[in-house]
Amino acid sequence: MRKKIVAGNWKMNLDYSEGLALFSEVVNMVNDEATGNQQVVVCSPFIHLHSLAALAKGYSNVAIGAQNAHQAESGAYTGEISAKQVKSTGAEYVILGHSERRQYFGENNELLATKTDTALKNGLKPIFCIGETLQEREAEKHFNIIKSQLVEGVFHLDADAFGTLVLAYEPVWAIGTGVTATSDQAQEIHAFIRKEIAAKYSQAVADATTILYGGSCNPKNAAELFGCADIDGGLIGGASLKSRDFTDIVKAFN
Ligand code: PEP
Repeated sequence: MRKKIVAGNWKMNLDYSEGLALFSEVVNMVNDEATGNQQVVVCSPFIHLHSLAALAKGYSNVAIGAQNAHQAESGAYTGEISAKQVKSTGAEYVILGHSERRQYFGENNELLATKTDTALKNGLKPIFCIGETLQEREAEKHFNIIKSQLVEGVFHLDADAFGTLVLAYEPVWAIGTGVTATSDQAQEIHAFIRKEIAAKYSQAVADATTILYGGSCNPKNAAELFGCADIDGGLIGGASLKSRDFTDIVKAFN
C-alpha cells in the first residue's frame, strides 16, 4: 500500500524561534492524526532543519525535509547547501523542482535531473514537483508539459531509485493564488501521471508511487481532493503556516 503524505512547505517564512514554536504546536497536534502508512513531512528553511529533525525523532509519523539542495556534491558554491549537508541535519526529504525554483532561479528539467541524482545518492527522498502554468493549460499543453517534466526530470532513474521518490502535481496557477484545481482536474492529471509511470516502469511501480496534490489546498477542500483514487495527499504552502489548518488537512485523510 503506497504511503499517504501531507507535506508542509514553509517557503522563506518564519525566523528560527518562530519555526520552532510552530513545529512544536504542529507535532503535538498531528502525531495522533497521522496513523499507519500516513506521514507528515515539514519542509522548513535550512536554518530550522537540525532542530526540527531532533524534535521529530520522538514522533513516529513526522519527518523533516528541505526545500532545495545543490546538484554538486560539495565545492566552491558560496551560499549554497549540499544534499549531504541536508542529510546530516537529520532531514529525510527534499523538495525539488518547485515551480518557484523553476520560475525565479531558472531551474530546468536537466538541472533537476542532476539534483535528483545527487539527492538520492546522499540518501534523501525527493518530493519532485511538476505542473503546468495557466498559459500552458489554456493552450491545452498541460499533458505534454507534465510528460516532459517526468521524462526529462526523473525517468532516467532505474525502478529502484524511482521507487524512493514522491511526486507532487502542482498546477502553477493554483499555487498561492487561492484557486484550487477541482478534484476532477487534479484526479485527471494524477491518473495520467500514474499511467505514464506504468508505461515507463510497471503497473506495480505506478501503484506504489505516492503522488501529492499541491495548490491552495486548505481544510475545506482537502477531504475531497484526498478522496480521489490517485491523490495520495498534499503539498501545502500557505496553510502549513497555521498549525490548526495544517492539522485539519492531515485529518482530512480520515
Ligand atoms: C506550494 O508552494 O507548494 C503550495 C502548494 O502553496 P499553496 O498551498 O500556498 O498554494
